[in-house]
Amino acid sequence: MAGTADGCIFCDIGAHRAPAYILYEDETTAAFLDLFPFTRGHLLVIPKRHGARLTDLPFEDQTALLRTLDEICRRTERLTSDYNVALNAGAAAGQVVFHVHLHVIPRYGEANPFHPRTRVRLEDGEAQTLLRELSHS
Ligand code: AMP
Ligand code: ZN
Repeated sequence: MAGTADGCIFCDIGAHRAPAYILYEDETTAAFLDLFPFTRGHLLVIPKRHGARLTDLPFEDQTALLRTLDEICRRTERLTSDYNVALNAGAAAGQVVFHVHLHVIPRYGEANPFHPRTRVRLEDGEAQTLLRELSHS
């Protein structure tokens, strides 16, 4: 796709060149499960066009991202009413993948939601269960 960047894992996921547990996609955006979830159902929403940060994107892509976020938040509410939406912009803010993405992190009453915890790689069985719950509108 025009607007993708070589070697960018999220461009590759958006173009189906790399595997991911995709639960939503349209022409310009996609949402998939985070491979190292903070909590059950932690997922990421991306534009298919490459941009390191939100302000690199044309406004139409920002708008599309927000529309997809709305859909994804509605689905997340099947799991729990409480969740964080986060965007890390820049290394000092914790950004590791330099293709803009929104985290949607369901919360289930952890004592300290912002305290980093050990993250365990998502298991395939759990991912399939989540896809069954979240892949439809
Ligand atoms: P950030 O720190 O905001 O850049 O977050 C990047 C997120 O992407 C982290 O939560 C990673 O666990 C997640 N991640 C990295 N590679 C993949 C991948 N191939 N599939 C799914 N999630 C990924
Ligand atoms: Zn990219």
